[in-house]
Amino acid sequence: MTVDTVLLGDGVAAMSLAAVADQLPNHALTVVRPNGAPKPHDHMLGFWNTEGLDFAASTARASWSTWSIVTHEGTAVLSSADHAYHVMHKLAYIDRCKAIATTHDVAFATEANHADADLVFDSRPPRASTNAMLQHFHGLEVEIDRPVFDDSTAILMDFRVDQSQGMHFMYLLPFSKTRALVESTIFSTQPMPETYYVEAIHAYLMEHHHAKITKVHHEEKGVIPMGTLSPHDPSIPGLGANAGAIRPASGYTFVFIQQQIQRAIEGVRHGKPLRFKRPHKSVDVWMDAVLLIVLKHWPHHAPSMFSRMATGLTGDEFIRFMSGQATWRLRLKVMMTMPKWPFIRGVSKLMFQRPRKVVA
Ligand SMILES: Cc1cc2nc3c(=O)[nH]c(=O)nc-3n(C[C@H](O)[C@H](O)[C@H](O)COP(=O)(O)OP(=O)(O)OC[C@H]3O[C@@H](n4cnc5c(N)ncnc54)[C@H](O)[C@@H]3O)c2cc1C
Repeated sequence: MTVDTVLLGDGVAAMSLAAVADQLPNHALTVVRPNGAPKPHDHMLGFWNTEGLDFAASTARASWSTWSIVTHEGTAVLSSADHAYHVMHKLAYIDRCKAIATTHDVAFATEANHADADLVFDSRPPRASTNAMLQHFHGLEVEIDRPVFDDSTAILMDFRVDQSQGMHFMYLLPFSKTRALVESTIFSTQPMPETYYVEAIHAYLMEHHHAKITKVHHEEKGVIPMGTLSPHDPSIPGLGANAGAIRPASGYTFVFIQQQIQRAIEGVRHGKPLRFKRPHKSVDVWMDAVLLIVLKHWPHHAPSMFSRMATGLTGDEFIRFMSGQATWRLRLKVMMTMPKWPFIRGVSKLMFQRPRKVVA
């Protein structure tokens, strides 16, 4: 029997699943572009090339085996010989997935009546609660007037920027000595006006790289809700970010979408119905919840927390922690690197926190 399966949404998760439709031979997939879907925007997707991500890595525009976290106190440099940090264009990835999906007979449609389908999965964005922590950012892919970028090292976080609006850092992916994606990223409950991020990028490049922007090639922006999220429509089972794939405290999602899909396929192979579950372990969700409380209430601890974590771990341990592959020993090691008081306060605040209303 073939199970008629509709995927609502044509973003990263739906298209990643469509590209491996041959691994679900009993399901006939249709990807549906929903009513009200915004015009597709390109943006960069970053990930460490861990197990199962070779296809994505082959789509990457650039990769770095070395990455750093910078504060006023110093620079922590991490590296991995086997798992470089890759970045790819989202739309290029989606196009490649679509081309492969077509060879697996996946159908594509605009919003149609899917009441006849046997199964429907919803990948439209999840909803955040009121006053939820957001990761909001604006990035410029720039050309600068001096060859000063170190193109061997991706800067994941440079905290030497204004910290008055919440945890704020620059994410800088150098494509050459004069060209980079530079993103001003803030964790707080309120996005800032666009000029704030753009001015912060100009000031950062001038102050810390002594460089001026000569050309902006591309701009991207985003608001990623953090913490526990609610499904877009509670009556439809989710897929991707809408099924809990966003890592609550980092916003990394791509790697978790791939884990979610592979586990669902594995389940079907073992005779279970197709279903996409939150790909994170409860203990990681709990640790992230504590971290988010600390970042929300005491963001001034953030630079030292992240630099201590980067100094205390090897590159491969850092990747395992970020990609949801931590062992208990590694989690303990991460906790030991952190300042203790903010965490004790974070744990007690989490225990007495009231549930929040979901934003419609
Ligand atoms: C600018 C930006 C940069 C990012 N960078 C990274 C990164 O580097 N690494 C990483 O892991 N993650 C990153 N993310 C998170 C990223 O969103 C996810 O990795 C990934 O796109 C989630 O896939 P998804 O299929 O769940 O959602 P999406 O890819 O967002 O797909 C959602 C689907 O729902 C549709 N939709 C959206 N809104 C509506 C609506 N109102 N009504 C109807 N349909 C709607 C869309 O058209 C789309 O079809 C980034 C996000 C943004 C915005």
